[in-house]
Amino acid sequence: MIQLYIPLNFLGVLYREIKQSLTDLDKMFGLLEKPREVADAPEARDLRVQGGAVRFEDVHFAYDPARPVLKGVSFEIPAGKKLAVVGPSGSGKSTLARLLFRFYDVQGGRVLIDGQDIRAVSQHSLRAALGIVPQDSVLFNDTLAYNIGYAKEGAGEAEIEAAARAARLHEFVASTPLGYQTRVGERGLKLSGGEKQRVAIARTLLKDPPILIFDEATSALDSHNERAIQAQLDAVGRNKTVLVIAHRLSTIVDADEILVLEAGRVVERGRHADLLARGGAYARMWQIQANSHKDHGNQMA
Ligand code: ADP
Ligand code: MG
Repeated sequence: MIQLYIPLNFLGVLYREIKQSLTDLDKMFGLLEKPREVADAPEARDLRVQGGAVRFEDVHFAYDPARPVLKGVSFEIPAGKKLAVVGPSGSGKSTLARLLFRFYDVQGGRVLIDGQDIRAVSQHSLRAALGIVPQDSVLFNDTLAYNIGYAKEGAGEAEIEAAARAARLHEFVASTPLGYQTRVGERGLKLSGGEKQRVAIARTLLKDPPILIFDEATSALDSHNERAIQAQLDAVGRNKTVLVIAHRLSTIVDADEILVLEAGRVVERGRHADLLARGGAYARMWQIQANSHKDHGNQMA
């Protein structure tokens, strides 16, 4: 029986937390015995992934009908390309990731993967095609090996260790009393935000799905680890379809397209150099980050 890191007496909160943190946990939904807000269509087929192209067509969405969150968002990520989304907190960036994962259904428009509306495919096959490194990761009250390995059925020790090394987690694991068999969670070792994030990164590296979502994936890491892990994420994202919600703009200068989201609308789109040249919202964000890095004596890119 799997237990959760978060106290179970907060079920309602927990359910929200899990949706928010976007762990691909069919298991957790099962555990919670809460009705899902989305269900497989009666005639749902499995998603057939060709290259993993993602398309949002005029997507509208609100958690609360009185407060629209996405107001007609369209974009396409061709198979194997990288799209970055930036914008102020609350603009709807993580909501895009939640909709792609189909934690909620869109209220207008469509989300397609390789031409298939994600409402028409089985959730199992959809989630198998997607890997996410969320803003806040939820861990199981189980061993480190389990927490890294559960994303891939039958993962062996060597694979788990290789993923942990790539996520710069191995040294930490090696320093714990039982290594990969050390239990984490409420009755085990407590992990810091950065350590949990590295568990999520290791998990995703191990799962190795065709479509990746990084939701401010390195935001909880110190700059040394961030740079090293960013290199790993870039490597694993090569030739995959990547949606990256960016916290630090220096990590997305190479994106095939950048969207600037403000209050649920795309206000600018283009490549880094084009957006800088335009001198709009993106250029201002870049300037602000460049200045704050200068103040800290750091280089930007
Ligand atoms: P971002 O990732 O850009 O910071 P989000 O997509 O998380 O923004 O949130 C967009 C808006 O939707 C915010 O105003 C946020 O408060 C609201 N929101 C997010 N999750 C929920 C939820 N589960 N229920 C109600 N409102 C939500
Ligand atoms: Mg967010």
